This record gives sequence, structure tokens and C-alpha cells, in this order.
Amino acid sequence: MGCAPSIHVSQSGVIYCRDSDESTSPHQTAALSQGTAATLHGLFVKTDAADSIPSVLAYQSRQPPPCPGPRRQERREPAAAGRAGARRCCSSAEAETQTSHASVKQASTTEVQIGPMRLTQDPVQVLLIFAKEDNQSDGFWWACDRAGYRCNFARTPESALECFLDKHHEIIVIDHRHARYFDAEAICRSIRATKPSEHTVILAVVPCISADQEETSVLPLLHAGFDRRFMENSSIIACYNELIQIEHGEVRSQFKLRASNSVFTALDHCHEAIEITSEDHVIQYVNPAFERMMGYHKGELMGKELTELPKSDKNRADLLDTINMCIKKGKEWQGVYYARRKSGDSIQQHVRITPVIGQGGKIRHFVSIKKLCCTNENNKQLYKIHRDEKYAGDNSQAESHSFRCKNRRKESIDVKSITSRSSDAPSLQNRRYSSMARIHSMTIEAPITKVINIINTAQENSPVTVAEALDRVLEILRTTELYSPQLGTKDEDPHTSDLVGGLMTDGLRRLSGNEYVFSKNMNQSYSHLSVPITVNDVPPCIAQLLDNEESWDFNIFELEAVTNKRPLVYLGLKVFARFGVCEFLNCSEATLRAWFQVIEANYHSTNSYHNSTHAADVLHATAFFLGKERVKGNLDHLDEVAALIAATVHDVDHPGRTNSFLCNAGSELAVLYNDTAVLESHHTALAFQLTAKDNKCNIFKNIDRNHYRTLRQAIIDMVLATEMTKHFEHVNKFVNSINKPMASEETNSNSEGSDCECAPNVKNFPENQTLIKRMMIKCADVANPCRPLELCIEWAGRISEEYFAQTDEEKRQGLPVVMPVFDRKTCSIPKSQISFIDYFITDMFDAWDAFAHLPVLMEHLAVNYKHWKTLDELKCKSLRLPAENNN
Ligand code: AMP
Ligand code: ZN
Repeated sequence: MGCAPSIHVSQSGVIYCRDSDESTSPHQTAALSQGTAATLHGLFVKTDAADSIPSVLAYQSRQPPPCPGPRRQERREPAAAGRAGARRCCSSAEAETQTSHASVKQASTTEVQIGPMRLTQDPVQVLLIFAKEDNQSDGFWWACDRAGYRCNFARTPESALECFLDKHHEIIVIDHRHARYFDAEAICRSIRATKPSEHTVILAVVPCISADQEETSVLPLLHAGFDRRFMENSSIIACYNELIQIEHGEVRSQFKLRASNSVFTALDHCHEAIEITSEDHVIQYVNPAFERMMGYHKGELMGKELTELPKSDKNRADLLDTINMCIKKGKEWQGVYYARRKSGDSIQQHVRITPVIGQGGKIRHFVSIKKLCCTNENNKQLYKIHRDEKYAGDNSQAESHSFRCKNRRKESIDVKSITSRSSDAPSLQNRRYSSMARIHSMTIEAPITKVINIINTAQENSPVTVAEALDRVLEILRTTELYSPQLGTKDEDPHTSDLVGGLMTDGLRRLSGNEYVFSKNMNQSYSHLSVPITVNDVPPCIAQLLDNEESWDFNIFELEAVTNKRPLVYLGLKVFARFGVCEFLNCSEATLRAWFQVIEANYHSTNSYHNSTHAADVLHATAFFLGKERVKGNLDHLDEVAALIAATVHDVDHPGRTNSFLCNAGSELAVLYNDTAVLESHHTALAFQLTAKDNKCNIFKNIDRNHYRTLRQAIIDMVLATEMTKHFEHVNKFVNSINKPMASEETNSNSEGSDCECAPNVKNFPENQTLIKRMMIKCADVANPCRPLELCIEWAGRISEEYFAQTDEEKRQGLPVVMPVFDRKTCSIPKSQISFIDYFITDMFDAWDAFAHLPVLMEHLAVNYKHWKTLDELKCKSLRLPAENNN
């Protein structure tokens, strides 16, 4: 206590004068303030020596001590001060440690919270502007020390301004007591004229008023730019109290306000259009993205009051009420509405409106974030449509789409009120847009949603006739069966409707009871079969037949005959060898043979059509397709192996009945697979079960897990693709993704003379490879109308027989007859074949031929079709003309 100030060098190298006094009480502080003035003057550079010192002196606090509590005092010899030429200073660290129990800053930085932001406030900077040092300036100086503030001292208006512009002090104290040195108000004004001063609190130190003097108004000071008046009082604690009150009040508020600049910077750079309005919908802020989106300059919108919605349209008013009810309750609303740009274009926006609580705990702002509903490109087109297309009623329609600001002169729009209002064209149903709003609010947008949104937007800008046509389009798009042709017109041929109905429905009209009984050989084990022969050891008649295996005209029925209805194992071994399947799977021929045997054994030889000959036929077609350059060029070896395996197993354990039948009969399989892709699911699952059941026939046992998974996935995908309910989906996807891009590529490359066999992007897009594989197995599965006439007729006979048998059983069991035309007494097989070709085959093979180049198949198809047409024209219902039958 009462010790002379000591000098020390701070960590930053600044030389300070330290007051070592333990001024922990007002009394002590007061004593110090009076006592030190004289003491300190010894350290001061005298006024007459002012030329030799800078006009601005710095006081900087040190970082807080590492461990507050035990007092640390560094002392230096007073002489050091003189050597360093320092005037006077003191360590705030010292002050902190000395007065840690008092309301004095403990650390040089402070944590401040504003909303969700956490900030760190640096020590407050104070600028003292006093022409001459005296007790009062000392009082503030030491108060700064105590509070841990950084302090600068300036004597002249010029140096004060210069220092302020350099440091942007939070608090400035200006000596307003003596008019003779400088004009305090003029200094204040000059500082207030600078931008950084908007966040600075300026204090005027005024002389004490004596008892006989009148209290004067602070207004002149306020007008000059001062924020506060401080009545002269050189007590350090008085100065300290003043400073820390300012810090905790205005300085802290200003600090928070400045932090909000970062938020505005973020808003300014945000890609979404942002608008902030008052609770009365007066625009308070829009960001540059908003200006771009709406075509207005912010100056045109700021402060505009928004009009009330014309209540003419009931639906629109409903939506407005809904939105207002929502946001007025403090809840967020999001949805879609139409806004009008300055140019007059109407744009569809997805909007999210969030109410913000402010003064008085009330909603004081609405923050709207807006995005264009479709891509920029679409909006550009939309704008173009608007510019180019001027149709009748345009004005009235557009008028009803948006709501304008009261200030019509400037044509600024009421974006806020648009937010709260639906804005449909009168000709369109508003309800739809309300539900569209719900779709828009979904986070994950499905492609179909995007398509519907684009159409919706286009409707908004279309003449009534187009909008109505698009309504119809939307109706269609909203159905789930996008790829299924719709039947049911009166003039539809019953053969077609029965076939389509029979093949393309899962039979959700399932009746109870009447379990379908599977044929006896289901799940037959390979061990019941005779000892297998090797591929090199096949009987000569079979080997001879198989020599022709690569030809499309290969006769599978002859193979069926010579192999005693086991064509699959013989053809399979030959084909799989040709494609190096054993090498790929790293399995022996014996394993493969065992596998073929178990798979073939699980085809029902009692089925007239869906037996192992059909499987062998599909395998044959698949192998044939895989030999085509385009197919080969676009698939990998794994795809080839997967396709051959899929073809082999694709109808295993087929009961000779359709999915609809199984569902109607309430079969175990239909129950197991929930009436959905019942047979295809069963074929796939069973194939893998049979394969894994016994190591001897497990062709996958030697491939690694990853290969197996990829292969398995490909096989499952292909077998499931044979399900006819998805027929049109697969064909359409193939046409859109493969045929169409290929056609345009060919047009381009023809001019450049390219002969590339790769379909465009196939190699880059595995999904395109998947489409090719699906199409390939589908075509192989129903290739029988493209086989040579005799084979085609045989297949038609077999499938018809299987259908007849099903109808017979349905009648016997009292089940719904799925395909009534397939009644053996009445059916016209030619008609059914014509329908089948017309409906399922022609388009699909056109597309497949365009890709794989299959002229032979197309020729057969034409011949076969003609055959059926001829028979039909001759009113012949059987496979051949009676004369031929006799042959
Ligand atoms: P899958 O059951 O995998 O052979 O699928 C092919 C579908 O096409 C089956 O429902 C067959 O009944 C049907 N199908 C194949 N060829 C013909 C044909 N020539 N006439 C009528 N339907 C056929
Ligand atoms: Zn099949």
C-alpha cells in the first residue's frame, strides 16, 4: 500500500508503469487517485517536453495471469522507467490480480451470446482526449487499468481522430471542461462523421456545477454526438464505475449489433431469395438473390406496405387464411405460390415463412425464404414463354396470380402477401396447387414430382385449352401404373383383354380356399437322376444336334425328344462351356452338370409349355443374343454369366398356372409373396435355395463374396424382369434410355463415319447395362413368335394348352376364370397369337432389333404373324389349316 509505481516490460514488449498500490477499496482508491497524481507526475513527461513524446500514448493490458488468485507482482526499479522513456502505464494483469474479488474484469476477453451465436469480446478500447493531463484524465487512465481496458491518450483533435480511425475505440472520453484548448463538441462531431463511430459511445466530461448554478440540458451535447455526460470527478472508482456501466450497457449492445453484420453478409451471399418484413408485411430487408429473382432493386421494395388480398377468389382466400392462421400463431408455413416479377412474368416459388418474435414478446418480423420451384432453365423458359406469348385474358389471369404493393406507381409486388395466398389462374383448380404445395414441402423430390411440378408451372402460363390438356396429362401421371396400357374399350378384342388381363395382373381379387396343388416333382433332388454324362460324352445323336446350337433356327423340340425331355442339361453344358462359365465361377464341370440336373429336375415336365424345354429355349435365345456384337460390346463377362444362369432358372418350378390363378386360388406361394410377382419371386428364390442346398451342385461355392453378391443381384433382377406386369415399363425404359440416345448418336456418327458398337453411355452407366440385360431376357423369354414357323406353331400350341388347362381347372374349382377366351372348345389360337404379337411382341422386338440387329428374327416374326392372320381370315381357330393338319 502506498508504494511507488514500478515499471515492467509486458509480454508484448511495451514498457509500462505499474501502480503497485493495492487499491481494493474506494477509500484506498480515492487516496491513491489523489496521492498518485503527484507521485506519477514524476514519471510524466512534462507538458513543456511534449514535443519529444507522441501525442497519443498507449496503454495496453496484458493477458490475464495464468492462475488468478495469488498475487503476482513484478517489480522493476523506477529507473527503468526513465531509461525506457515511458510516461506512465500500469499492468491490467496486476490490477486484476489485486482486485479479483471486486467487480473488476478478470480476463481480457469476454464471452457474449447473441441469439445462437457465441462471440468473444476483446478488451474494450478507450480513447481519452484531454489537452492536458490532470487528476481527471488520470482517474480515467487508472480506471481503464482497473477494468482491463486498452487505453489511448490523445491531446489534439487531429491525433485523436487519427488514433480513433486506427483503433475504432468503443468508448471515447472527451474533456469538455475547458474551451481554451480545443472545442470538444467539434471533436465529437468530427468523430461522429466517421463510419466506425456508429458503434462508439462518446462521453463528455463536464465541469461540476456548483450549488448556485442551474442544471443545464444535455441536449446540446447529444446534438453534438455525445452519448453521455460525466460530471467531473477524478476518483478512479467514479471513473471506473462510469466506464464499466457503459461497457455492460451500450458497448455490449453495440458489440452484439456489429456481430449481426456477419449474419447480413451471409444473407447477402445466400442463393435463396430472402425477405424480411414487419408484422404488418412492410418490407424491411431483401437480399440480392431476392432482387435477382423478382427483378426489383431493393430500394423499390424497402418500406413498402403490402396490400390486403382481394377476397374475390374463395380458394385463394382460404389459402391466405390458412397461411395467416399458421404464421400468426408463431408457426412456420411452407408451400408454393405464384409471384409476379417486375417484368410481369409469373413465377412459381417454394416459400418458407418463419415468424420472428421481437419487441414485447410479439411477432415483429416474418422471414420468407424463397426458391424457384423448377430449375433455372425451366424458369428461363417460363420467362420466355411469358415474353413471347400474349394470349387473351393474359392480363386478368396474371393479375389474379399476384398481389401488388399499395405503391402501384412503382409496380412493386406484394411478395409477402403472395406468400400468404394461393394464386391460381381462375381456370385451374386451386385445390390442386394446395396439394402441390404439400408435395413441394417434401424434402426428397421424386422425379415424377419434378415432372408434375414442371407441368404445373407450365399450366400456370398456358392458355385454357393447353392447361386443360395438361390437366389430363397430370391425371395420367398421377396413376401408379404408368407403363401399363389401359384396356377396356368396347371394341377391344377379348383375346387381347384376356391375355393382357391374365398376364399382367397379380389377381388381387383373390378368392379364399381352393389351394393350388403343386405337381409331384416339385423340389426334386438331383440325386434321383441317373448318373450324369460329361459334355464330351454325350450320345452322338445329341452331339450332332447340338452342333447347330448357335443357329437361331436350332430345333429345341428335337433336342427335347432325343434327351428324353432333358434338353436343358445338354444344351446348358454346351452353351455354358462356350461362354466360359466354369472358368468364371471357378467350378468344375461336374458341379455345373449336377447343378443343371437339379434345376432341370425342378421344372415340371408335365407342363405343356413351362417345362425345361422352355427354359432351354430361353437359354438358347439368350446365348444367341449374347453373341450379337452390340450386346457383347455393352456387357461384361459377369453380365453374360448372370444372363445365362438367369435364363436357365427363370421359370424353375413353374406350376403351369399364371400369377393371377395362384392369387385367386390363395396358393401358398401367393400368400408367401403377397400376391406380388409371385412366380418370379419363387423361381429366383428357389434357384438359389437349390444351388446352395448341396455343395455338389453349388456353382457359386468358389467365387468370392463380392462377385457372388453382384452376380446374384444381376440374376435376381433379370428373373424378376420376366414378370409381365412390368413389361411396358421395361420396354419403355429401354427405348428411352438406349434406343433413342443411340438413334441420335448414330445420326451424328454417320456423318463422321463412326462404326462404334457401344450404345451411348452404356459403359458409363451400369443402369443402362441393367436395362439391356432385362430387355434381353424378356425377349428371350417370349421369342417363340420369332422362331421358324414350325417352332412358333409348336410353342403356340403348348402355351394355349397350358392356358386351356388352367381354364379347365378354374372351372373345376369354381375359381374366377382369368382368361375366358382360352377355353379349349371355343378359343381361336390364331386370334390369341395375333393379340399376343400385337400387344407384347412387335414393339419390343422392334426396339430390341434396333439395338441388337436381328433381321432373321424379324423375318420369322413377319412370316409367323402372316400365318396367324391368314388362319384368322379363314376363320380357322386352330394352329394350322385343316388340310395341313391332315398332313
Ligand atoms: P414366362 O412365364 O416367364 O415364360 O413369361 C412369358 C409370358 O408370356 C408367360 O405368361 C407366357 O404365358 C406368355 N407367352 C409366351 N409366349 C406366348 C404366346 N406365344 N402366346 C401367348 N402367351 C405367351
Ligand atoms: Zn419363361
